[in-house]
Amino acid sequence: MHATMQQATLSLNHFLDRAGRLFPRTEIVSRLPDKTYRRHTYAEYHRRTRALASALLAAGLRKGDRVATLCWNHHAHLECYLGIPAAGGVMHTLNLRLSPDEIGWIAGHAADRFLIIDDILLPLYQQFAHLHRFERVIVFPFSGAPVATRAGDPHAGDPAIDDYEQLLARAPADVSFPPHHEDDPVAMCYTSGTTGRPKGVVYSHRSTVLHSLVAALPDNGALSNTDVVFPVTPMFHANAWGVPYMALMVGAKLVFPGPHLHADDLLDQMQVDPPTLSLGVPTIWLTMIQNHEANPGRWKLPAGMRSLVGGSAVPEALIRAYAAHGILIKQAWGMTETSPMAAMSYRKAELAGADEDELFRRQAMQGVPVPLVDLRIVDDDGRECAWNNREVGELQVRGPYITGSYHEVARDPEKFTDDGWLRTGDVAAIDEYGYVRLSDRTKDLIKSGGEWISSVDLENAIMAHPAVAEAAVIAVSHPKWAERPLACVVLKPGQTLTPEALREFLSPRFARWQLPDAVAFIDAIPRTSTGKFWKAKLRERYADWQWPEAGGAAV
Ligand code: ADP
Repeated sequence: MHATMQQATLSLNHFLDRAGRLFPRTEIVSRLPDKTYRRHTYAEYHRRTRALASALLAAGLRKGDRVATLCWNHHAHLECYLGIPAAGGVMHTLNLRLSPDEIGWIAGHAADRFLIIDDILLPLYQQFAHLHRFERVIVFPFSGAPVATRAGDPHAGDPAIDDYEQLLARAPADVSFPPHHEDDPVAMCYTSGTTGRPKGVVYSHRSTVLHSLVAALPDNGALSNTDVVFPVTPMFHANAWGVPYMALMVGAKLVFPGPHLHADDLLDQMQVDPPTLSLGVPTIWLTMIQNHEANPGRWKLPAGMRSLVGGSAVPEALIRAYAAHGILIKQAWGMTETSPMAAMSYRKAELAGADEDELFRRQAMQGVPVPLVDLRIVDDDGRECAWNNREVGELQVRGPYITGSYHEVARDPEKFTDDGWLRTGDVAAIDEYGYVRLSDRTKDLIKSGGEWISSVDLENAIMAHPAVAEAAVIAVSHPKWAERPLACVVLKPGQTLTPEALREFLSPRFARWQLPDAVAFIDAIPRTSTGKFWKAKLRERYADWQWPEAGGAAV
């Protein structure tokens, strides 16, 4: 017997047609470099995105060619999301916060053929242009200034420079998109290299459609046609967690911050187009709430908003602080390799009788695996751990939108198991309800006298102290204990705190030997290119650290 269902290809082109036909009046708002707003409709989006695909084909784009983007979050970047794959190309989002050398290396490794770039980022391009030659550089006049176009000089090896808007205006109106298979590539992202050399992950039509459907479900992102979505996560960081695709799929209004990612700017923009759903890493929400508290009456936080927060552990104190304003923080766990949303922390019905503290505690966990994703925990001996919240091991993941390899990298047993699971490098336990509790990245764990200390647990607890703005805990080598925890703490303006008082505050929740031996009070915690706390930089800074004789010293 055969199933009677049609063999329809899962395709992003369907999202594009849907967006234009069903939601033509929905708005897309972009903040421009001069802080004004540009408003588009989905109808214009549909027309412009088709024009982009048509222009790329007319420019000689071949199936599977990489088209890099070096752009902030705005409508033209969104056009690339569906326009490049519609033309058969692969959108490769370059991370503009990396060093020019890294960007050049990544563009070369991906063999990017074309580049679409914001005019305000051309100075950055000049710094890596010698490392990789694009055939064509298409400049988006984001600032409104005219673009100096030029024909390419094949002898000098200079790329052609086009104006994005002129290219769209000239694009042949009649375009038929090349046929494709659902496993064909649509986009690629490099892991941001928090650990090791960046590696390329390539998404397909099928993986992206499935991820969009799952991540938009009510228990997960809960995206709806009536939402106003505010992606603060850069569109070059794991495709802004896939949310642009999901918003286009359901026809939600999109509001982009452009280059204005300072907390005050985000708060300003929220007054103009109050979002119902936003997304970003914890550091940005930390700064936003602090600035909000420091300026009473200046901004209104949009009560009722849901905020998807992930990329690093979300402190419980942060979840509580937003809850007090009627904002629900939903923690998501994932990686560039997992499309990325693979687990989501929501309140399961079986916890209906739980008290509020218990529910907040669970919101601070990494969450329950989403549909189509399998998770398991494996210990050092390769044995699968029980889901009892006690057994701890490496988190491994499998599913139709989890990468099975890296672009142009030989299969690495450090990253994939023999039976085909991705090794995440995260250390976690899973409890009997299926909630993942991450204790660390393998590289961030602190091994003290043969026992592991979770830096995530310590950071969470330290950030609950009312005087603390931010905290990161790192392992520093120790002559007797191998490693001991050093807490790096940023205080809120005007606050004071002693190491003794902090240790006292932490002591009810930790064994004595787990408490940080010293506290470094610093001005700021360094951030990675995706806005996470950069512990590797802190470890470098304190590599020669000498432990004081007694505990509780401050630096
Ligand atoms: P990078 O490896 O460069 O940081 P990713 O953005 O892909 O790039 O990071 C994935 C990693 O981020 C995960 O392996 C995990 O360590 C961390 N992470 C993601 N979400 C969470 C979360 N909710 N809590 C704790 N860590 C998280």
